[in-house]
Amino acid sequence: MNQRNYQRELDNLVKQNEASGKVPKLLLHVCCAPCSSFCLESLAPHFDVTVFFCNPNIDDPEEYHRRAEEEKRLLREMNLPRPVGFLEGEYNPERFHEAVRGHETDPEGGERCGICFELRLRESAKAAKAGGFDYFTTSLTISPMKSAPRLNAIGERIGAEEGVAFLPSDFKKKNGFLRSTELSREYGLYRQDYCGCSYSKREAAARKAQCSSAAKTDSAIVSASESSCRRCSS
Ligand code: SF4
Repeated sequence: MNQRNYQRELDNLVKQNEASGKVPKLLLHVCCAPCSSFCLESLAPHFDVTVFFCNPNIDDPEEYHRRAEEEKRLLREMNLPRPVGFLEGEYNPERFHEAVRGHETDPEGGERCGICFELRLRESAKAAKAGGFDYFTTSLTISPMKSAPRLNAIGERIGAEEGVAFLPSDFKKKNGFLRSTELSREYGLYRQDYCGCSYSKREAAARKAQCSSAAKTDSAIVSASESSCRRCSS
């Protein structure tokens, strides 16, 4: 079976909208400022974008507010071709914990993450529908740790259920992840080293501990551990 190229689908849609002179309204769900930086750079020239910060998966309130404030700062400072709005979803970590109950020990990328994507994309679709947006999508596809086919399948299903179109994307294509690290440096963005929930925080800490013990062993293992440390950064 042919694999879909979500980024090419997005590019084609942009061309069609440009040919007909349309600037559609887009609600962009964002997980954090670093991941959203490249998405904003690539989408703002073609869409009337509003950012939707909806992340009840972040169960440490201090971390949640830090990421939300960093997103707002990025929107103030980033040089974009048109103004970008900011909306915040309800911050209710209890809802996340209830949704993932029984999946606390799933590894990152497992079933717990599917439930987490579903929760955040469902809220995004509802907000997009209520706000009269043409599309909704998510910055999550930029992460090398997250599957674009999985996220697009969930987004499209939820979009059909809620009556609002999901914009296909795979922001890690076209060196999107690399560009997000450059933009993060340029704007001095806070880059967390774990995905968001307490379970991913524990996993990231365990990976780091493994990396540093490997680093003490010999220099060949050091370079391998460095590349796996970079993978920790979402
Ligand atoms: S690892 Fe990330 S995507 Fe998976 S459940 Fe935790 S916060 Fe959600």
